[in-house]
Amino acid sequence: MANKTINTMNFLEEKIQTDGVIKEGNILKIDNFLNHQIDIDIIRQIAYELKRRFKGIEVNKILTIEASGIAIATMLGDVYDVPVVFAKKSETANSTDNKYVAQAYSFTHKKMNQVFVSRPYLHATDKVIIVDDFLADGQAVHALIDLVHQAGGEVTGIGIAVEKGQQKGGSTLREEGYRLESIAIIDSMDYETQTIQFRKSAPRR
Ligand code: 5GP
Repeated sequence: MANKTINTMNFLEEKIQTDGVIKEGNILKIDNFLNHQIDIDIIRQIAYELKRRFKGIEVNKILTIEASGIAIATMLGDVYDVPVVFAKKSETANSTDNKYVAQAYSFTHKKMNQVFVSRPYLHATDKVIIVDDFLADGQAVHALIDLVHQAGGEVTGIGIAVEKGQQKGGSTLREEGYRLESIAIIDSMDYETQTIQFRKSAPRR
């Protein structure tokens, strides 16, 4: 992929710049380190960076959604030494069937999914960090928030590897008051020129 857009990129922005492929329809493919093959070193760095940014928040569970969030969530669960739960997707899920169920429109597959977690895995005492690989319109994260709230738990943080800042998910979640941390935020990307502009990251505290 083409030129560096800023010279203060973090490790994930650099990896995206080197290995990411922009597809038509505003889709970024990062299959060689996150969405198909998993680069454990990058995932580990994402987990440690999220923990650093979430310093001081309470957490006793990590929640993600299958499939690509699981690698990051597992590493973060290891770093915090707390259980990891992943919501499952299904075309039909019945909330009377010992599950919490929420709806999410899939940006990549262009269809409505039901997402669910079995009741024994979410509790009213849970302080949850929600994790996912990408944040676009916020459908997946809002469905996960809904599941935590159905159980009576609290969302204490939302950790994302790649936020597509040109879509509304990030701004909506911040306006709603959630503590959202995204390691790389894309402001724009162009399929024709295969270039990406990242939002300038906040300086390290
Ligand atoms: P949202 O629910 O925020 O609209 O979209 C986030 C979900 O869609 C993520 O779970 C992710 O799997 C998928 N997604 C959205 N945009 C992209 C993208 O550009 N590339 C990839 N690989 N997945 C994406």
